Amino acid sequence: MEINQEKKASTFGGGLEGVKDISRIKSAELYEKAKTFFPGGVNSPVRAFKSVYGTPLFIQKGNGSHIWDADGNEFIDYCGSWGPLILGHNHPSVRNKVIEVMQNGMSFGAPTALENELAELILTNNRFIEKIRFVSSGTEAVMSAIRLARGYTKRDKILKFEGCYHGHVDAMLVKAGSGLVTFGETSSAGIPKAFADETIVIALNDKDALLKAFEEFKDQIAAIIIEPVPANNGLLLQEPEFLQFLREQCTANGTLLIFDEVISGFRVGFEGAAGYYGIQPDIITYGKIIGGGMPVGAYGASAAIMSNISPDGPVYQAGTLSGNPVAMGAGIAQLTELLQPGFYEELDRKTAAFVKDIEDYVAAKGYELKIFRIGSIFWFAFTQQEHIRRADEIDAGSMAHFKIFHRELLNRGVYVGPSGYEVGFVSGVHTADDLEQTKKAIFDSLDVVYQNA
Ligand SMILES: *Cc1c(COP(=O)(O)O)cnc(C)c1O
Repeated sequence: MEINQEKKASTFGGGLEGVKDISRIKSAELYEKAKTFFPGGVNSPVRAFKSVYGTPLFIQKGNGSHIWDADGNEFIDYCGSWGPLILGHNHPSVRNKVIEVMQNGMSFGAPTALENELAELILTNNRFIEKIRFVSSGTEAVMSAIRLARGYTKRDKILKFEGCYHGHVDAMLVKAGSGLVTFGETSSAGIPKAFADETIVIALNDKDALLKAFEEFKDQIAAIIIEPVPANNGLLLQEPEFLQFLREQCTANGTLLIFDEVISGFRVGFEGAAGYYGIQPDIITYGKIIGGGMPVGAYGASAAIMSNISPDGPVYQAGTLSGNPVAMGAGIAQLTELLQPGFYEELDRKTAAFVKDIEDYVAAKGYELKIFRIGSIFWFAFTQQEHIRRADEIDAGSMAHFKIFHRELLNRGVYVGPSGYEVGFVSGVHTADDLEQTKKAIFDSLDVVYQNA
């Protein structure tokens, strides 16, 4: 379907007749001020709304599935702080636990019982790791996992996949060059070429490239790192068979398999993608949900592999605020809720029904839109393609559709991440009413995108 972008994209105020653009006066003021303090006015780039219309919304509060911005606009939220808030905003269990812990102080730099409690909660309910180490972000978890893999195997090279995001770790900010198997080219300034030379980049879903990499760099690859559910560059769902193939090839080559489960961990099930697919990786990284909205990351593995971490072993890794009691408290409260029987089944059921209704609408209207989903993660791709498994299969041109879609959704009280490459999340507290309202907003917004109103 043709899109008249001229008409719709010319001004921010060019929405559907009868639908007023939301006021962003306060947000715009705050943004102007923020620009005097922070590069681009933000503390993390995607927040700057560079790929969508208007200035970023400054959020004032969140409760349950809803958020409110500085101008008083209310939205049903499907960003969920980019994934952590699987119980929505300000969940009473999490809030109460955090307040309770804070009564006793906020940080000691010494062990607390809360670290044991969160570790026990995780390890007794996860068949894929025996020991864990808490850090303060997903990036830190990945950085540490890579160091562990290198220390354990005494090899230097890491293989990653184009289209997987692993935080802003130097060795991971590399993109594929031209060719089947390439050393990465840095995708950020400030990364020495020598670092990128230790990172091999291949496409997802490409067995031949993987075999070639193992042939070319025999006995040199310390680890393969993958998002088993690649969800940071669209939702590039892999065939289980490909993940299994990675497992077999890693074992055959003495290479460790790292599942970066910072998004998928505790999201597609309590045991994350490892449990979902029934595949045993060698090291798993966590973040986002694990901290209940506080800054927590973690990495885990078998006791044997973890024994290489200091002070038991020679791989150094430390953190002043690691295992912070307040953050541990938030994690304990959130994960306890997730362990309630039926939590993930219900979340899956309601997301499936939500997506199905949108698919039916799209089919009836003949719109070119495909919704990819796993559990409570969904991604709108403005395409007819049945599968998108590699980064280079995403049509960059289709993002123009998303830009209009995003604005129309905001105008109708629905908040999603401000980029067409970002996925959305349904939480345990989205109500039937929320989802009904959201569907209506999505239908109307799609009608605007396709000029069919
Ligand atoms: C978010 C994310 C990271 C980075 O985590 P931060 O907490 O933002 O540092 C790493 N890997 C994956 C798969 C992620 O989704």
